[in-house]
Amino acid sequence: MKPAAFRYHAPKTVDEAVALLAELAPQDGRVLAGGQSLVPTMAFRLAKPAHLVDINGIAALNRIAVEGGKLVIGACVRHSAFHQPVCDGPLGKLLTDIVAHIAHYPIRNRGTFCGSLAHADPASEWCLALTALDGEVVAKSARGERVIAARDYFKGIMTTALADDELLVEARLPMLAAGTHCGFYEFSRRAGDFAMAAAVGIYRLDGGKIAEPRVAIGGVEPNPRRIGEAERALAGAAPGDTAFRAAAKAATAAVDPLEDITTSADFRRDLVLAITRRALERAAQS
Ligand SMILES: Cc1cc2nc3c(=O)[nH]c(=O)nc-3n(C[C@H](O)[C@H](O)[C@H](O)COP(=O)(O)OP(=O)(O)OC[C@H]3O[C@@H](n4cnc5c(N)ncnc54)[C@H](O)[C@@H]3O)c2cc1C
Repeated sequence: MKPAAFRYHAPKTVDEAVALLAELAPQDGRVLAGGQSLVPTMAFRLAKPAHLVDINGIAALNRIAVEGGKLVIGACVRHSAFHQPVCDGPLGKLLTDIVAHIAHYPIRNRGTFCGSLAHADPASEWCLALTALDGEVVAKSARGERVIAARDYFKGIMTTALADDELLVEARLPMLAAGTHCGFYEFSRRAGDFAMAAAVGIYRLDGGKIAEPRVAIGGVEPNPRRIGEAERALAGAAPGDTAFRAAAKAATAAVDPLEDITTSADFRRDLVLAITRRALERAAQS
């Protein structure tokens, strides 16, 4: 099937793009970034936008920089930019570990980090990373600019705090101090498939004990989220099997898993037990 007819717009600046969105969003206008989620849904006619505002020609959105202790990722930065570390230290390595699990090479060469955040698939690895790291996104419209924290951004399955006329111009992730331990683990049936469950574990060591632990789970509930129960099980404990199993058990009890035609809630809950422990084991080895 071919997509339904639409009008194509190619702004060259962010101001032009937000002016177009102000005019066209009420007429079913949509942003086109990498097109790796939007174009297939158009081809199936699940989406029939009347206007596409293609942001790929806006050079200012194609930037990665470290500013004020944060990694800034512009809206046109592709997944493949993360095949090598984009910044020093544990954050660059964590993002490189994660990107290998997103789809396949051709999709990673077109799809964008911020497009994944805008699309907000429950199983998106970048949505999980934004959540685990307490990142933020910058949304711009003709009405102005606002910064939205990860905890306020996700509103349900493929639903975010972005308004229809807002362009997500960049995402920001806090840099991680040298010595921070980070691990990612994902389960999917085949390489390149969406995750059935994925976990990020992050902690520092203070006198040999776990400090500032973070455990976030994706692909299990409508949105990724940090699991406070698992983090409390880790805080102050010695890193190792006992603490990691206790955190995994706490995460398993805390989640309320989605069910779908192939995966029961019980199976997803079992996956959380395994992936949480494995993400923490990888963190210990990092
Ligand atoms: C076979 C296949 C396998 C895949 N596997 C995975 C996977 O394992 N993990 C994963 O996370 N993803 C996966 N994807 C999706 C892929 O990562 C997409 O690249 C991503 O979801 C969307 O990014 P995009 O730049 O392609 O956005 P687009 O497809 O261009 O847009 C997606 C949506 O977001 C909106 N949007 C995009 N950018 C912005 C912006 N800057 N501001 C406001 N709105 C915006 C669009 O209007 C649209 O509604 C897969 C895709 C395919 C086809």
